[in-house]
Amino acid sequence: MNHKFGIAIHGGAGTILRSSLTPEKEKLYKDALREALSTGYSILEKGGSSLDAVEAAINSLEDCPLFNAGKGAVFNSDGKHEMDASIMNGKDLSAGAVGLISNVKNPISLARKIMENTTHVFVCGEGAENYAKAFRLKIESDQYFYDDFRYQQWQQARMAGGAFLDHHVQSGKSADEKKFGTVGAVALDKQGNLAAGTSTGGMTNKSPGRLGDSAVIGAGTYANNNTCAISCTGHGELFIRAVVGHDVSALMEYKNLSLAEACHEVVMKKLVAIEGEGGLIAIDKHGNIELPFNSEGMYRAMRCSDGREEVAIYK
Ligand code: ASP
Repeated sequence: MNHKFGIAIHGGAGTILRSSLTPEKEKLYKDALREALSTGYSILEKGGSSLDAVEAAINSLEDCPLFNAGKGAVFNSDGKHEMDASIMNGKDLSAGAVGLISNVKNPISLARKIMENTTHVFVCGEGAENYAKAFRLKIESDQYFYDDFRYQQWQQARMAGGAFLDHHVQSGKSADEKKFGTVGAVALDKQGNLAAGTSTGGMTNKSPGRLGDSAVIGAGTYANNNTCAISCTGHGELFIRAVVGHDVSALMEYKNLSLAEACHEVVMKKLVAIEGEGGLIAIDKHGNIELPFNSEGMYRAMRCSDGREEVAIYK
């Protein structure tokens, strides 16, 4: 069957104002988004699976220091990088997730290995890192993850005394000095299968051991061939409480809402009511794509086989 196919990606949501990004910076972000998008899209175009497209697009963003995932992961309060990632296959509801991992170059690939090669869904810390070694995934030194910008960002967060979203602009700082970005991807392939994945370094200066929504199936990531595929970015504690990904799917499945209606209900009403700042990317089984957010901006891009294409940052 030659189904309509498409992919959407995000690089984080938050206080991203046009006035605060230089044209050069804006171009860097858009180029990185375009590259990840075309990596994923070309897999779909050749008949590859939505899972492969999602993993490859996220790998591209994880390897880019501009985004808060993989190489660009933020510092926790111990000065370490603890990364979270999850992936879900809409075809059979299989899922894999990892939390609190360090030194693994591509956390989303480890999440996929957990899904496909173990009997578990969610593995954290040292146990997950041991799986990475057993599966011969790339391990990198602390130096690989060190980034001076991230270090300065952590020092500011320590002085301000809190844990901050990567998208948070601390007073006196312009967004230009900030890097934004948990990353994610959702895709629909030619076979009609949906998949979703999310990868993050979490929040700057977060407590060691803190897990966000990006690692949680049903919150930050969800995919179901009967409804849609979702990847979120935003204040993880609130996104977990709102069970965002599954909620969008449930509104479609049980209340027959369209993808657009379900996304609006969750992102613009439910999350706003609890001050859950952020957004999500979504694709449904028909190839409809929604990229809603309740923050100032969200790094996002999408491409569909019907010709629709978009790379955008601001509202
Ligand atoms: N949702 C992520 C977390 O709370 C952060 C983000 O989206 O930037 O860990």
